[in-house]
Amino acid sequence: MNILVINAGSSSLKYQLLDPQAGTLLAKGLCERIGIDGKFTYKPQIAGKKVLDAVDVAMPTHSEAIQAVLNALVDQDNGVIGSMKEIDAVGHRVVHGGEAFNKSVLITEDVMKTVEECIPLAPLHNPANITGIRACQKVMPGVPMVAVFDTAFHQTMPAKAYMYALPYEYYEKDKVRRYGFHGTSHKYVAARAAAMLGKKPEELKLISCHLGNGSSITAVDGGKSVDTSMGFTPLAGLPMGTRSGDLDAGILQYVMNKYSLSINDMLDILNKKSGVLGVSGVSSDFRDLESAGKEGNDRAALSVEMFNYGVKKLIGAYAAAMGGVDAIIFTAGVGENSVSQRLAIASGLEFMGVKMDAAANDVRGKEAVISAADSKVKVLLIPTNEELMIAMDTAALVSGK
Ligand code: ADP
Repeated sequence: MNILVINAGSSSLKYQLLDPQAGTLLAKGLCERIGIDGKFTYKPQIAGKKVLDAVDVAMPTHSEAIQAVLNALVDQDNGVIGSMKEIDAVGHRVVHGGEAFNKSVLITEDVMKTVEECIPLAPLHNPANITGIRACQKVMPGVPMVAVFDTAFHQTMPAKAYMYALPYEYYEKDKVRRYGFHGTSHKYVAARAAAMLGKKPEELKLISCHLGNGSSITAVDGGKSVDTSMGFTPLAGLPMGTRSGDLDAGILQYVMNKYSLSINDMLDILNKKSGVLGVSGVSSDFRDLESAGKEGNDRAALSVEMFNYGVKKLIGAYAAAMGGVDAIIFTAGVGENSVSQRLAIASGLEFMGVKMDAAANDVRGKEAVISAADSKVKVLLIPTNEELMIAMDTAALVSGK
């Protein structure tokens, strides 16, 4: 079964064609500068087929972008399928499902209406996701489509974890609560962890650390998300590449008054100029920070230390929340690649049964147990694969499983 996975942004669209049952990727790529001029990238995964790298293709709207994807996939010389009929369904990444969606769903007009109602919760992302779905429906009529939400996995959190201590009407009337994000990634790595450990998800207490440019940590108890570090928006939790993470809201009043900033100016600073970039003044990229730190840049070193400390504290908090932890998972750009950060985060957690194996930890980008054989808590490196998770959910829904 071939599933086309679409992740639509306002002026870009990422795609992958996968067979989730076989676990194979047939092609992937990217449409950029939609509505401006249009650049098209196509990477077939079959030997001998030609790659297209940011070639000019006119894309006034997302519809032309999807059409370009289809043209490339079925191209006589460099395509990977014979015709569009070989695409069984499309899985769309949708950022916000609010409280309406606790799992992936087949897209109907009712579903679209509800996704539209979630726009105020994700004003930048949901409209782009909706545009992507509409464009696909136009270009691929009759092909079943599925929406996979970043928030859905976290809908199992109990009220004590998702409520903010604000006047209750903000929750009741305005739906202000913790939603959490990266749900597709946390769900995927939690399922892989169970498979790696040879256990059922119901038997495991896991802490999933998705550490990338955006970072979040999730407590997964018995296969269900019971707490997560991102909140009403992805600004919450850990310090990130450019986002501040959690902070004392009193700082906003102090800084805004002092520098006559509007709330939009302030949010721009918190989203784009803070995090490890803000502290280091060097970069939002952890590789740059690691090298700058080694060259003696104290602020760069401090920013990484703050990040690692934040991760460590949340691991402790979530172990306490679940009354224990069987395995800690590292995933995403930093989690999959930074040997030194994984070691720094896990060091000092020996008291709770975490013992790393330095040699086993010297690995990048592939599934591995990186804790010592006698570590009570297993530490796992699991590369995330949100597209495969989307394709798996889509295949399950269209085949009625
Ligand atoms: P996102 O999907 O949130 O944009 P990624 O999961 O791709 O982010 O992670 C990007 C981050 O991963 C970057 O900050 C990058 O520096 C970091 N990263 C990638 N490779 C390494 C590495 N070898 N060591 C440390 N950090 C790395």
